[in-house]
Amino acid sequence: MSAPVLSVRNIEKSFGGIQAVRGVSFDVHKGEILGLIGPNGSGKSTLFNCILGQLAPDAGEVHVTGRNVSKMRASDLNKLGVGRTFQQLSVFPKMTVLDNIILAGQEHHGTMLSRLFGPSDAGLTQQAEQLISFFRLTHLRDTLAGSLSYGQQKLVDAAMALMAGPSLVLLDEPAGGVNLTMLANLKERLVTYNAEHGTTFVVIEHNMEFVMSLCTRIIVLAEGHIIAEGKPEEIRANQTVIDAYLGG
Ligand code: ADP
Ligand code: MG
Repeated sequence: MSAPVLSVRNIEKSFGGIQAVRGVSFDVHKGEILGLIGPNGSGKSTLFNCILGQLAPDAGEVHVTGRNVSKMRASDLNKLGVGRTFQQLSVFPKMTVLDNIILAGQEHHGTMLSRLFGPSDAGLTQQAEQLISFFRLTHLRDTLAGSLSYGQQKLVDAAMALMAGPSLVLLDEPAGGVNLTMLANLKERLVTYNAEHGTTFVVIEHNMEFVMSLCTRIIVLAEGHIIAEGKPEEIRANQTVIDAYLGG
């Protein structure tokens, strides 16, 4: 079997006296859509930030397709094809939908030097337009991102993460604050993208219906460590999870 797309080993992270992540380990294999759930403050976003080089963990290692990326910066991880969204929206409100997505692609290709060897601007535009069409935003292509609905901005955010041409995408609450129609749309688009491209996703989300129907496997965090792991139906029936989270 080939190396996991993502391997997280014993990650620990404290902020002063707060132990946000207390030794978390898991693997994610190609094509999986892994859900990461848990109560507020259980360490989910901190874990993402440690995996993605935005925060330096106190201990532990991160491997992407067998390569140790523990010391790698976020921008370099992006160049390896690892995309992400943040819990907060990261679209630029005064730029059009198209320009936001192109910009995300330019960041992926980094310096002018590496851009010489990367796709042309025309190539990036084409890639951005394909994603706009994929997320059914073509009618909003030239609209300023700031004038879209919140749910539409979340779709733009997801499209931006996919501009890395990514093998692995980490989404932090992609459906947070999104209405039911948009939620169903987002879920269906992510499942389709995964099926068409084999992209591996790790998704933090609070909406249980969304997570249970989107994800192939779920990990539950509580107080900085993993309390359960399994298929959606196993998690739904797990008494520890119900007590710690679902019952609350
Ligand atoms: P989640 O995403 O699961 O809601 P977080 O990872 O955001 O949880 O937070 C985990 C814990 O770490 C919380 O107690 C939170 O207050 C704390 N925390 C997160 N980021 C910081 C930070 N930059 N400085 C201090 N404490 C933080
Ligand atoms: Mg969070």
